[in-house]
Amino acid sequence: MNNNFDYLVLGGGSGGIASARRAAQQGARVAVIESGPLGGTCVNLGCVPKKLMWHAGQLAHGLDEVAGYGFSVGEVAHDWTTLVSRREAYLRRLNGIYQQNLERDGVTIISGHGQFVDAHTVSVAERRIQAEHILIATGGRPDQPDIPGAELGLSSDGFFALSRRPERVVLVGSGYIAVELAGVLQALGSTVQMIVRRDRVLRHFDALMADTLMAHMQGLGIELHCETQVAALHAQEPGLRVQLDTGAELAADALIWAVGRSPNSAGLGLERAGVSVDERGHVLVDEWQTSSQGHIYAVGDVTAGPALTPVAIQAGRRLADRLFGAPPAQKLDTRMLPTVIFSHPPIGTIGLSEAQAREQYGDAVRVYSGRFAALYFALIEHKVFSAVKMVVVGEEERVVGLHCIGPGADEMMQGFAVAMRMGACKRDFDATIAIHPTAAEELVTLR
Ligand code: FAD
Ligand code: NDP
Repeated sequence: MNNNFDYLVLGGGSGGIASARRAAQQGARVAVIESGPLGGTCVNLGCVPKKLMWHAGQLAHGLDEVAGYGFSVGEVAHDWTTLVSRREAYLRRLNGIYQQNLERDGVTIISGHGQFVDAHTVSVAERRIQAEHILIATGGRPDQPDIPGAELGLSSDGFFALSRRPERVVLVGSGYIAVELAGVLQALGSTVQMIVRRDRVLRHFDALMADTLMAHMQGLGIELHCETQVAALHAQEPGLRVQLDTGAELAADALIWAVGRSPNSAGLGLERAGVSVDERGHVLVDEWQTSSQGHIYAVGDVTAGPALTPVAIQAGRRLADRLFGAPPAQKLDTRMLPTVIFSHPPIGTIGLSEAQAREQYGDAVRVYSGRFAALYFALIEHKVFSAVKMVVVGEEERVVGLHCIGPGADEMMQGFAVAMRMGACKRDFDATIAIHPTAAEELVTLR
């Protein structure tokens, strides 16, 4: 059994696998230690199962819309158990594909919980593994607030473990996970109430996107309790009693906490390796992903950067290239970061919100925005309105923010992100011939 490697990766999720494979492809002797299923959060408890559930929600909305196009469908039933078992079978196939890919690249896979013994040694059970370079890519886990009965609630992990759809759901939080899971559960038939501690959801995104989504959610029947917090949870038969700080109480079959995530850094023995963390436990790294210990690195959710799969992947690959590939070295670059919130409807966003741009550039900021219903809704009674916003800066009107909510927004933004990274200005958008009739053309015809 080989216990000496050039590169040892702790965590077989998005960042760890990407980095391990890239290093092995450059000829390094690499091992990955993983305590759970390969693929990490994204594959097992995040992006992939979430997106499949989102597609189910989209289909449910579609069924409400087909009458406008002349279809009459009889009574429609949805079987949650079938959806979940087909989803899980697909995920098990993905786990196998990840294993095959690692093996094909010659990466050694070690199952178990890894922890530092010293700065060059990691233990997994009785085994001691040494490496010249070590990557920490252990990801994060869901937070739970410190209130009485909090443990009666579920996290997003618990949502994916549900074998039956709860009828009455309370979702607590206002970020990506809260709005995504609220949308799925509502679309598939649950009654959903959201507890939002401030005045709006998605407070860190452009206000036009957040306000438009809130109006859509309310239109679909999701009840939003803003400026409200959960004070305590009590078990009752059936379900839960949710006590709010306003004095009101809600009855629910399930409560889901979606109040953020924390890094998986405790229990790694980082102190024995001389690796420093911030006050929330994120591994402190420089712009090259190097920790306070020169040969130990960290990427992905265990660091304080944006907690997104493609960010972890880029950081991991660029690090492996720098350590084992040919120069010139590149580092993680999150400028003009594109991201999609898979709400119903989805939100695609790139770069700065209007508020962030005004904070950074003051009066040099100008905004173009629009609101429309896509042609698809011409024949449909319940219209889903889209909204777009372009944030530009200076005389040349360089585009620093682009935001879209509406059907198709999820697939619309990737190409615009390329243009914005290349420094596109409003005049470049204006000079581009539109694709008609689409929703995306609204972004090149803004006045
Ligand atoms: P992870 O993928 O979490 O991998 C870390 C791995 O390390 C895990 O497999 C864990 O078991 C293992 N590990 C931890 N400690 C140890 C140890 N001591 N020894 C051995 N192994 C260990 N991002 C997107 O870009 N798009 C999305 O649509 C999206 N949707 C999401 C939906 C949900 C519900 C959630 C929770 C997250 C979502 N994300 C999404 C975020 C995305 O999943 C993460 O940013 C990404 O998985 C981070 O990758 P990582 O490699 O840092 O960590
Ligand atoms: P987020 O950080 O997105 O949102 C959590 C929000 O919950 C906070 O912004 C805060 O909102 C609110 N909150 C925090 N504490 C409390 C509390 N005690 N009570 C009530 N509300 C609270 O975290 P998520 O858990 O939604 O997701 C974690 C990360 O995973 C995301 O940031 C994202 O990076 C990633 N992710 C990406 C997805 C995608 O790409 N589509 C999908 C899902 C997750 P406020 O400050 O306004 O009160």
